[in-house]
Amino acid sequence: MRKPILAGNWKMYKKVGEAIKLISELKIKVQDVKDREIIVCPAYTVLNKVKEIIKDSNIKIGAQDVYWEEKGAFTGEISPDMLKDIGCDYVIIGHSERRHYFGETDDTVNRKLKAAFNSGLLPIVCVGETLREREQNLTFKVIEKQVHDGLKGLEDALIPKLIIAYEPVWAIGTGKTATPEEAQEVHKFIRDFLKRMYGEGSSNVIRILYGGSVKPENISQLMSQEDIDGGLVGGASLDAESFSKIVKY
Ligand code: PEP
Repeated sequence: MRKPILAGNWKMYKKVGEAIKLISELKIKVQDVKDREIIVCPAYTVLNKVKEIIKDSNIKIGAQDVYWEEKGAFTGEISPDMLKDIGCDYVIIGHSERRHYFGETDDTVNRKLKAAFNSGLLPIVCVGETLREREQNLTFKVIEKQVHDGLKGLEDALIPKLIIAYEPVWAIGTGKTATPEEAQEVHKFIRDFLKRMYGEGSSNVIRILYGGSVKPENISQLMSQEDIDGGLVGGASLDAESFSKIVKY
């Protein structure tokens, strides 16, 4: 049985006061939830503050990105150890906005993934096809390459700890959600691929989240699909009421 994960990606939103308000409200609204993992991924500038507020709660914290080097002259970057040091448990890697605007590739995803695991962070690796790729029937090919190259050389023992987020690029922030059946088809494809690569034991425990315009109105249907183990939520995680409804789908 895979424990569902509901993760909120706050992107480049929420200054200190706004973040404190959001997390304080959310903490109260979801305090009784026990059977699912709740993660928030705020901007670096508020990680510390949010961490302080969720201490002793059922909410965990993740970062939205990380660099692969341990330390050094890498102006502007944040290392996995720095994230661990302030109490981060998770990190999003290879979000489509990072791939699109900041030139991230499957190779940088792979380096970041290994570095994150080395420091004890649990990575949420994002994959997803663009609209053009879907229209050209390239979805499975694109996803297979992203998963294969992203995970290349990873120790087999780490595979079960991995979290994958399938986020069709055309559904992120657009209000267009993949239908539960469309999402399930790709989730199953990913799980079958992982099964071929790493065996049934690992593929059965890896959580595969769906992301792309998840809202309180569509989460239950998405979660009713066999291979959908949670959601990575952008816009709807910026409001405590809507994210708490998603958490309690
Ligand atoms: C995301 O940022 O990962 C995301 C899926 O955004 P949204 O829910 O706003 O589409």
